[in-house]
Amino acid sequence: MTRTDPHSYFDDRQPRAHRWHLRLLVDFDSRILGGEATLMFPRPVAGILDLDSKGLAIHRVWVTVSGAKVPFELGPEEPILGRRLRLTLPEATHGVSIAYETSPGAVGLQWLEPAQTEGRRHPFLFSQCQAIHARTLVPCQDSAAARVAYEAEVVVPEGLTAVMSAGPAGDGPGPIPGTRAFQFRMPQPIPSYLLALAVGELESRDLSPRSRVWAEPATVDRAAWEFAGVEAMIAAAERLFGPYDWERFDMLVLPPSFPYGGMENPRMTFLTPTLLAGDRSLVDVVAHELAHSWTGNLVTNATAEHFWLNEGFTVWAERRILEALHGEEAAAAAWAIGQNALAESLERFRDQPELTLLRTRLEGVDPDDAFSSIPYEKGARLVAALEQEAGEGAFLAFLRDYMKRFRFTSITTEQFCAFVEERLPGLLARVDADAWLHRPGMPANAPVFRSARLDRITAMARAWAGGTRPGDDPMGDWNPSELLVFLQNLDRVQSLEDCAWLDRRLGLTARGNYEILAEWLCIAAASAYEPAYPRIREVLARVGRMKYLRPIYAALGRHEATRALAREVFAQASAGYHILARRLIQGVLAKYP
Ligand SMILES: [Zn+2]
Repeated sequence: MTRTDPHSYFDDRQPRAHRWHLRLLVDFDSRILGGEATLMFPRPVAGILDLDSKGLAIHRVWVTVSGAKVPFELGPEEPILGRRLRLTLPEATHGVSIAYETSPGAVGLQWLEPAQTEGRRHPFLFSQCQAIHARTLVPCQDSAAARVAYEAEVVVPEGLTAVMSAGPAGDGPGPIPGTRAFQFRMPQPIPSYLLALAVGELESRDLSPRSRVWAEPATVDRAAWEFAGVEAMIAAAERLFGPYDWERFDMLVLPPSFPYGGMENPRMTFLTPTLLAGDRSLVDVVAHELAHSWTGNLVTNATAEHFWLNEGFTVWAERRILEALHGEEAAAAAWAIGQNALAESLERFRDQPELTLLRTRLEGVDPDDAFSSIPYEKGARLVAALEQEAGEGAFLAFLRDYMKRFRFTSITTEQFCAFVEERLPGLLARVDADAWLHRPGMPANAPVFRSARLDRITAMARAWAGGTRPGDDPMGDWNPSELLVFLQNLDRVQSLEDCAWLDRRLGLTARGNYEILAEWLCIAAASAYEPAYPRIREVLARVGRMKYLRPIYAALGRHEATRALAREVFAQASAGYHILARRLIQGVLAKYP
C-alpha cells in the first residue's frame, strides 16, 4: 500500500507516530498558536516521513533527545490537502520535534473577540478539526487511519481556562508572567480529527461523578440544568453498547458561532448553545455525541469516504438511546425529523448523485463540500435495516462483537462488510447492502418509522394546504418534536394571513427552541412575512450553526426584498461566522437569481 487516504499525505509504508507531545502558546493578539509538536514512534525508525500541514510556518525540526537537525522540505500548496511536510529521519529516531506556528487564518481555529462571547470581557478560541483541519493546528499524519495518544501543555493568558479532548493533568503558573499553563493527557489513541482545544473564561458544574459541563460563567448554570440528565443517558448507552471506555464524559458549551450542533471530541464534547432551549427538549444532540463514544470514537471511519460508518451508526445508536429513555414515540419523532433532513440532502445533491452513495469516492473533493445528512440518515437506515433483518438480539450481539474486534481502530466499508459476512453470513445480501452502499438515492426497502400520533400530525399538516386548520386542543398537546414535524410538513410558502395565524397560535417568532424557531423562520422568510424579519436578523447575526444558517439564507432567496435583507445581514454578520459557515453561505448567496 501507499497513500490510503485521498485527503492526507499519510503513507502507511512510512513510520507511524503513535503519540504526540504538544507544547503550545495561545496568542490572542496575533491569533497564532506557536510551539512544538513532538511525534513519538513505538520503535526506532528512519527514512522519509510525510506529514500534513496547512498554513503552518515550520521553523525547525530535530531529533528528540539528541537534538540532531532533521532535514525537511515543504511541498507546494494543494488547495484541499495543504502542503506536504517531508522529513528525512536519521537512523534510530525515537521521536522528532517540530517548532512551528499556525496561521491566523487556520480553518481549524476560530478566534473570537470579547464582543462575540457571552461575558464580553475576554476573547475565546475553539478548534474544529473534523474532517481534515487538524493539519492547520499541528503538523501530523492527518488521516483517521493513523491514531495517536497525546499529551499537551497549553499556555494561555492568566484568567482564561484551557480545555482539550483529553483528561486534565494539572495547571500552574505559565513560563511567561501573566500566563497559566494547563496540562492534558489523552491515553487512548484517537484519530487526528478528534484533537480539540478551547480557551476562554470558563466555569464548570459537576453533573455526575464522571460528567461535568463547562461554559462561560453567564451560561454555565443554564447548561447544567439543561444537561442534568446526562448520567441516565450514559447508563442507558452502557446497557445497550457495553461499558463507557473514556473514563469521563465532559461537555463544553461554546459561544453561538460554533458551526455545528455538537462535536464528539472525546472526554470533552463540544456543543452549540442553541441546545439550551430551557426545557431539555434538544438534548438528543447530547445523546448523539455520547453515542459517538462507541460508534465513531471507538471504531471510526478510516477516511472521509467511509464517513457513514461513523455517523450512520451514531444516528442509529442515538435513537436507540432515546427509545430506551423516552419510549418509541420519541424515537419515531426523531426518525421522522431525520427523514426530512434526508429528503433535503437528496434534493440538494440532485445533480451530484455520487454524493448520495454511502461508500463515496472523494479524490479531489473537499470533505466539507461533501458534508450532508446522507451519511447520517441514509447510513442510520441501513443500520436499522440490518437490525430488522438480523433481529434485535442478534444484531446487538453482533454490534458488541464488532466494537470489541475493532475498538480503537479506524476501518473501511469493505472491512465492515467482511466482518458482517463473517458473523452474520448472507445478511448483507438480504438487505441488498450493495444498493445502499454503491447506488445513489434511497433503496426501495428502506425502513419506515411511523407512529399513529405522528401520522395524525402529518395528516393535519397536509390538510392545512386544503384550508383545514387544526383546532386548539391537538396543537396545545404537541411536544416540541411533534410541532417540528407539523411545521416540516407544511409548504414553505404560506399566505401572510396563514403566517400570522401560525405565529399567533403557536407563538413561533418568540420560540427559544432553535429547531422550531429555525423551521418557522424558513417559512416566514420564504413567505416574505415581515413581522418575522427582526427575529431573522437577530438569529442570523447571533448564531453560527450551519444547520440553521443554510436553510434560512436559502429561504431568503425567493424574493427580491428578502434577498436584499440576506445580503445586508450577511455583510454585517459574516465576520463573526466560522470560516466554514462563511464559505457555505457565500455559496448559498451565489445561487440567488
Ligand atoms: Zn455525529
